[in-house]
Amino acid sequence: TVPPRPPALCPGCPHRAFFYNLRRWRRQAVFSGDIGCYSMGVLPPFETMDMLISMGASIGMAHGLKQAGAQEKVIAIIGDSTFFHAGLSPLASTVYNRGNIIVAVLDNRITAMTGGQQHPGTGITLQGEEGVRIEIAPVARALGVKHVWEVDAWDVKGINQTLKEAMAVEEGPAVVVVKGACVFTPYFRRRPVVAVDAGTCTACGTCFRVGCPAILKSEEVHPKTGKAKATIDPLLCTGCDVCLQVCPVGAIYGTGGGE
Ligand code: SF4
Ligand code: SF4
Repeated sequence: TVPPRPPALCPGCPHRAFFYNLRRWRRQAVFSGDIGCYSMGVLPPFETMDMLISMGASIGMAHGLKQAGAQEKVIAIIGDSTFFHAGLSPLASTVYNRGNIIVAVLDNRITAMTGGQQHPGTGITLQGEEGVRIEIAPVARALGVKHVWEVDAWDVKGINQTLKEAMAVEEGPAVVVVKGACVFTPYFRRRPVVAVDAGTCTACGTCFRVGCPAILKSEEVHPKTGKAKATIDPLLCTGCDVCLQVCPVGAIYGTGGGE
């Protein structure tokens, strides 16, 4: 029997910290999704996508929702490859029509789930030769977007702060580029794995909410609550440190090994 294995973002995935933070805005915003690995933001533990129609539809749908009178903020979530494929013209239309939306571009420097091929943002041609790398933030500014941020994909606090600032923009659109290479690209750097100090872990469950397949329920339970403590599979962990940043009691630590 094959055990159930629901799809999940890979250990070290540059989308994890973004969705962990995005989840906090579920009551104040509508999320317009797109097609790629980040479509998995629809699944637990994130449950963030409200709409997911077709490749490149996220920005146009977000803008349309605002034009139709949506009171909430609307956040379009699109990958770098999809942005170059079908996101430029709806962003231009949104600027032109003064659409007050947030566009989050998850820039992982590859077309990941939908083919593995290069695109204009990688700087490598489809024949594998060196090409011209087009950066997303300057393109957004050139299209007339006044509020543009670039943030490190594994910086949990940095993403939280950037989303707060973007949510406060009153005359949009705003563009947030979340930059971090996919684990399957040569640009991704594995770092020493992390581990859980079982004596410090309070079994609060916060690290389970980053949805990393390397974080498992330990057989050891908290004596008062009976809840399982966390443990980390060193063979899967890539040392991205996202779980380490969210643990409220500092129970997760770098081991300095296993790269
Ligand atoms: S550091 Fe934490 S979140 Fe990152 S890969 Fe390892 S277990 Fe997963
Ligand atoms: S976040 Fe920290 S304290 Fe909470 S379960 Fe994970 S390791 Fe334990």
